[in-house]
Amino acid sequence: MLKAVFPGSFDPPTLGHLNIIERAGSLFDELLVVVAENPRKKYLFSVEERVALIQELLRGQKKVKVYVWNSLIVEFMKPRDLHIIVRGVRGTDDFSYEFELSMINKALDATIETILMPTDPRYFVLRASAVKELAFFHGDVSSMVPPLVEEALQKKYPS
Ligand code: ADP
Repeated sequence: MLKAVFPGSFDPPTLGHLNIIERAGSLFDELLVVVAENPRKKYLFSVEERVALIQELLRGQKKVKVYVWNSLIVEFMKPRDLHIIVRGVRGTDDFSYEFELSMINKALDATIETILMPTDPRYFVLRASAVKELAFFHGDVSSMVPPLVEEALQKKYPS
């Protein structure tokens, strides 16, 4: 069984995340989406909300499972005998960040391989922080997130 993990904040999940999940899901027998609960970060959506959204969006996709983790991703992977991390890359800024991250993870555990997946051109400029900014000012985010997330954002930022 070839398994991979896709870690991230997913605050909130976007069409860019879902595209990577769909494409990576087709390459592996199992994809573990790992939702970060980093105590040093401030999130708009609680970890319970982020997990509930992703689970609902991925309902029926048997190859994809959702987990929560509040520490280094390599510590999640080691005891589960997992060795592949998938990350999405939107452009060169993402690439340099993701490249460094992959070096750090490799230094922590030499058995880890990181696979960088270029974004679909439709989601090139899509990032969760921009979605939140736009939603705060009641801008149209319908091309960036699925309707379920759009509704959740409207509840966070009622007009
Ligand atoms: P963001 O960077 O939007 O805050 P996350 O921290 O949740 O999102 O990112 C998790 C992973 O998803 C990262 O590898 C990130 O590069 C990737 N990702 C986020 N948005 C996109 C997108 N539009 N296209 C491709 N990958 C993406």
